[in-house]
Amino acid sequence: MKQITLIPGDGIGPEITEAVKTIFAAAQVPVTWEVENAGITTHNAGGQLIPVSLIASLNKNRVALKGPITTPVGGGFKSINVTLRQMFDLYQNVRPAKSTVGIETPFKFVDLVLFRENTEGLYSGLEFYDERHGIADAIARVTKDGCDKICRAAFEYARQHNRKKVTVVHKANILKLAGSLFINSAKTIAPEYPEITLDDKIIDNMCMQLVNKPEQFDVVVTTNLFGDILSDLCAGLVGGLGVVAGANIGKDMAIFEAVHGSAPDIAGKGIANPTALLRSAIMMLHHIGEHEHATRIEAAMDQTFKNREQCTGDLGGKASTMEFAQNVISHL
Ligand code: NAD
Repeated sequence: MKQITLIPGDGIGPEITEAVKTIFAAAQVPVTWEVENAGITTHNAGGQLIPVSLIASLNKNRVALKGPITTPVGGGFKSINVTLRQMFDLYQNVRPAKSTVGIETPFKFVDLVLFRENTEGLYSGLEFYDERHGIADAIARVTKDGCDKICRAAFEYARQHNRKKVTVVHKANILKLAGSLFINSAKTIAPEYPEITLDDKIIDNMCMQLVNKPEQFDVVVTTNLFGDILSDLCAGLVGGLGVVAGANIGKDMAIFEAVHGSAPDIAGKGIANPTALLRSAIMMLHHIGEHEHATRIEAAMDQTFKNREQCTGDLGGKASTMEFAQNVISHL
């Protein structure tokens, strides 16, 4: 039995986590959960935003499944999500977006994997406010090492998964230094992967191309902020935030979490779609070598999508979060 750190999060987090746990139990996946939490949940209970016990659990288990955690807008505490990624140098944020039979969208042939640099750029935490002059600076720190690591991860993934093209997304026409550092890193690494085509797109054009002809993209690699925005755009192409998975991967630790947030507008109603977290959990199973369980659960989930009635409301169905889980279980 592999022990996994389970962070339910807040908002819809506990609901979708319960659904995934129920499906894993029914499928007899050989994992045990060590439940730890962070953010407003632990803070409101009189504890720390990131409890020492969570850090110890992550250090011990090296693999976690995480629900969304709310970040206050404007002031308040720093994002727990960003902090965990930086604390453990989880420099790859891997977000697949694939069209699924049964999930209706205007696009049918999307099959791309977005690699978002996960610890640097505009999320470096270098923000300053000069009150006297009314000037706020947010510094996008990009390092050569950080660019090299994420670009190499994208090429390695492309090689291992028989993908043909890596598209580097940047703004090097305006960000002459930071943008060039990123694209030059990709250009330096690309010759080591002669079977893979290197392509590059400026971020604004990329947004247009993605909504116009998304099937042209294969593996996409970009800096932190662009990746954050593009991954929600890609989610929109394949059925919305309720269905897209994500993984934060470092050298020897990985935290799997859905792309979406805590969805306060639907929290507590039992109607959230657990697919995004379930797909993240399936990525996690592949990561720990449980390929058979991953494939079996994925097949049951895909079967569920073919009957709209069995899906949650965001996909046009009538099922609650837990009914969807039971529907997946019925197809195992
Ligand atoms: P959100 O992703 O929570 O919600 C955006 C929209 O998508 C909402 O209408 C929501 O109802 C819908 N949605 C999201 N997940 C869904 C699901 N599983 N099923 C059905 N519908 C779903 O984005 P937001 O409202 O901008 O952010 C809310 C909070 O979440 C913020 O505090 C933000 O900082 C945080 N957040 C956390 C993470 C994370 O934990 N990794 C990621 C993104 C946002």
